[in-house]
Amino acid sequence: MTDPHVTDVASQWLARLEVALAGGDADAAAACFGPECWWRDLVALTWNIRTEEGREAIGRMLRAVLPTARPASFRLVGEAVERDGVVEGWFAFETALGRGQGHLRLKGGLGWTLLTTLAELKGFEEARGETRPRGVEHGVQRGRRSWLEEREAHVAAFGIDEQPQVLIVGGGQGGIALAARLRRLRVPALVIDRLPRPGDAWRRRYRSLCLHDPVWYDHLPYLPFPDHWPVFTPKDRMGDWLEMYTRVMELDYWSSTECRGAVWDDTAGHWRVEVLREGRAIELRPRELVLATGMSGVPKLPAFPGAEAFQGVQLHSSAYTGGQDWAGRRCVVVGSNNSAHDICADLWEHGAEVTMLQRSSTLVVRSETLMNIGWGRLFSEQALKAGITTERADLTLATMPFRLMERLQKAVYEQVASIDADFYARLRAAGFLLDFGDDGTGLSLKYMRRGSGYYIDVGASELIANGSVALRSPVEVTAIGERSVRLSTGEELPADLIVYATGYGPMNEWVERLISPQVARRVGLCWGLGSGTRYDPGPWEGELRNMWKPTAQPGLWFHGGNLQQSRFYSLLLGLQLKARFEGLPTPVYAPPQPGG
Ligand SMILES: Cc1cc2nc3c(=O)[nH]c(=O)nc-3n(C[C@H](O)[C@H](O)[C@H](O)COP(=O)(O)OP(=O)(O)OC[C@H]3O[C@@H](n4cnc5c(N)ncnc54)[C@H](O)[C@@H]3O)c2cc1C
Repeated sequence: MTDPHVTDVASQWLARLEVALAGGDADAAAACFGPECWWRDLVALTWNIRTEEGREAIGRMLRAVLPTARPASFRLVGEAVERDGVVEGWFAFETALGRGQGHLRLKGGLGWTLLTTLAELKGFEEARGETRPRGVEHGVQRGRRSWLEEREAHVAAFGIDEQPQVLIVGGGQGGIALAARLRRLRVPALVIDRLPRPGDAWRRRYRSLCLHDPVWYDHLPYLPFPDHWPVFTPKDRMGDWLEMYTRVMELDYWSSTECRGAVWDDTAGHWRVEVLREGRAIELRPRELVLATGMSGVPKLPAFPGAEAFQGVQLHSSAYTGGQDWAGRRCVVVGSNNSAHDICADLWEHGAEVTMLQRSSTLVVRSETLMNIGWGRLFSEQALKAGITTERADLTLATMPFRLMERLQKAVYEQVASIDADFYARLRAAGFLLDFGDDGTGLSLKYMRRGSGYYIDVGASELIANGSVALRSPVEVTAIGERSVRLSTGEELPADLIVYATGYGPMNEWVERLISPQVARRVGLCWGLGSGTRYDPGPWEGELRNMWKPTAQPGLWFHGGNLQQSRFYSLLLGLQLKARFEGLPTPVYAPPQPGG
């Protein structure tokens, strides 16, 4: 039941905020907020992705952006609701250049959290619905070219005679989603990927892999999976979907094309990018360079003494394809996160004798529990029935400042611990070291902070709990023998196969590899919130470092993350690139400082 009084409270607050903003009075606007408050702005006012914490920071931000952003026309969309004393509502607004969507939460009549996010640029709206292209001009016309002929002529010239405005290096789901956004925004963009076919990044992974996130979370922009699509997409099917998507969305995509290096030409104001396309060297000169090379791109391979003399097979998890050759053989999997678990389960299914080596604790959460009390509220059939579309679910996630998310997620994981108490007790009894993050904040935050250190259980935990997969924990590998793995406990484990499920290097390693160590230093770390927890050094950033927003290197951008992030943030990055392409003023509030 909605209460009209609650809607009035929200409308009046929004009107008060608008009057302050319209008058350019940053202090009065900040005074609309309570003592504990956050304003999360996604590109709408700041041309940046930022969360301001506290009235002072909000006032500072507004003083800087109001003269150019000129936010106005705030209006509540739908009814506001009240839950646990917090009034919540959605609203729309405009800025000098764009239209946006927002969300407010009020506590005691004062602002608690506010989200403002850019949805479209005025005059540069995506063609859709009534404004869709006709496809054909009826009538008769000599020399008319068909769609196919037009497309072929474009494909032959693009990147050769005509330079792309944006070059996206990496044609995984991230690069593909961004290219689709740019296509709809009419920004000439080219995707390159070194693999032979779109979708190959998924196809090349181990044979048993299925997405760990459910289908409702995984849609690409514009073209959702049909409603018979399985909940957990098998990796080859994901590969095929990406390939089909690339084609039907008419993306400019060069496969078998590797980026070898890129240099920013300050005088010309564009990049000079050396690419090798099917063995042929080509120089591309885009204004904007997006690295969508993935967080799982640079395998981390530990160098253990004696490894070079190992007589069996050893490989990184990224090179593991399946357990078919290992029935009855002794397999050691180094690591205890997602890939390690999936690979142990796959080897066990093939009749191998498997041992997992765990060095430090892992966050494990059962997929079913995650669906019930995690994603389910926003991304599920029930959510759809309750009217929560994918777009609404994405925006709802975005309303939550990360600081507040930390607080709320602790409570969620206390619930998880109690629901699955028996499951965790059995894992502990098997010697498995568990955590819910350094501060008990759970999976999403661990993912945002370090992108690793967890397993979404789809079955392998049972193998560990019942001893089918042997476990050594906590242990370090000290050396590799000719047919064994030596452990810090003094034990020597016989091994025919060693799989290093030891993860991947950080995204900024790509900058060092493809551009230069100097630019990598200038740009600083990618990903992570600056929480000061393990692998996520402070200072607190409040947003993911360098992702989807301007970096300290002109013309350099990062895109990536899971399918939900890729879908949501590709629009925000697309709009930033579109504004620059059209020469709109994009004054960035609090631009990144060299060195991160
Ligand atoms: C085992 C495993 C399970 C996972 N499960 C899920 C899941 O369930 N849901 C989910 O959302 N994510 C999952 N992920 C994470 C997944 O890797 C990322 O979500 C996804 O791949 C990110 O897409 P991306 O486009 O950013 O990167 P990638 O898919 O890694 O694509 C990067 C692309 O860049 C290309 N590339 C790199 N360097 C160059 C170069 N120099 N020149 C040209 N091309 C280059 C690569 O060939 C690759 O195709 C999983 C990852 C692993 C390893």
